[in-house]
Amino acid sequence: MPETVFLDKYQNIMSNYLPSRSRLLKNIHVTFDRDCNENELWALHERYMEIYRENKKKTYLSGINEENQKVQNNLLDLKIRIAEKIIENCHLCHHRCKVNRKKGEKGFCKLTDSSRYAAEFLHMGEEPELVPSHTVFFTGCVLSCVYCQNWDISMHPETGRQLDIKELTARIDRRRMEGSKNLNLVTPTPHLHNILKIIKDISVNIPVIWNSNMYHSLEAAKLLEGVVDLYLPDFKYGNNRCAMKYSKIKEYVETVTANLKYASMDAEILMRHLVLPGHLDCCTKKIIDWTAGNIPEIRFNLMFQYRPEYLACMYPEINRHLTSQEKEKAIKMAKESGIKDFLI
Ligand code: SF4
Repeated sequence: MPETVFLDKYQNIMSNYLPSRSRLLKNIHVTFDRDCNENELWALHERYMEIYRENKKKTYLSGINEENQKVQNNLLDLKIRIAEKIIENCHLCHHRCKVNRKKGEKGFCKLTDSSRYAAEFLHMGEEPELVPSHTVFFTGCVLSCVYCQNWDISMHPETGRQLDIKELTARIDRRRMEGSKNLNLVTPTPHLHNILKIIKDISVNIPVIWNSNMYHSLEAAKLLEGVVDLYLPDFKYGNNRCAMKYSKIKEYVETVTANLKYASMDAEILMRHLVLPGHLDCCTKKIIDWTAGNIPEIRFNLMFQYRPEYLACMYPEINRHLTSQEKEKAIKMAKESGIKDFLI
């Protein structure tokens, strides 16, 4: 196996030297009664995830990519069943709307149980190690950012194309054969129940990327263990006041930092932070400091592409581009932070 420096598991799955985490899940046989309640399913999940962790340790240490078995009734099926239960009383994200999406009820994200996507294509504009990246842009979002650059998709979940799991799965397999390095799932949180079904049906070995705001619930975080190979989190704010003001979400910092720590125990992370004008001290510095103190071994992309879009004109303090002084200040913060792998 060739030696790689950053994101080495991701790189080795991408090159087919190691199996993706979800392939390991599919090899663990689990039987369960479909009538079990959520607590009973979680108890089983706890037990079998121990086996997954052991198997992952052995497999990733030995570096052997064995032929995928994909046993009937496996641990991924159990995760799908739990996700189906969760959306009947939805707590996929920290809004915890408790609506029954299977009955057509809608919460903050305005989504029922079906999913739509606005685009799927080989993306050439992501970080160098990710391209070409098979990107699927799901519609809807659990945040409501006043400066959202994709507001036409995120605020209008009814747009785009109805998800057909078999059709999309076949396309993922085909694009992998054509050279995609990964499956990059964008704004995936409210679609987790359907995404697990997609991953169940994929035949090829491919790293799964969770391209997300990380505002998911603890329950969703547990389901993602063993499913996601690389997290691509967008860490937006260093305090809850800014998160409420610009994205209409509560308890942002606690939720996102807990999810990042949980994610880092199983998978790799390529963190993104979009620097906001006037938010260097309250957000950028806090995010860099937290990362340096808690998960310093990750890859960190400091981004300067902010444009005042959507409703940003109603917030004069962010209704402008970054200044060159702000960019320099952010770079200085990054260099002094102790985080080893910055992409600027
Ligand atoms: S995904 Fe989040 S925002 Fe959407 S209904 Fe569920 S808890 Fe609410």
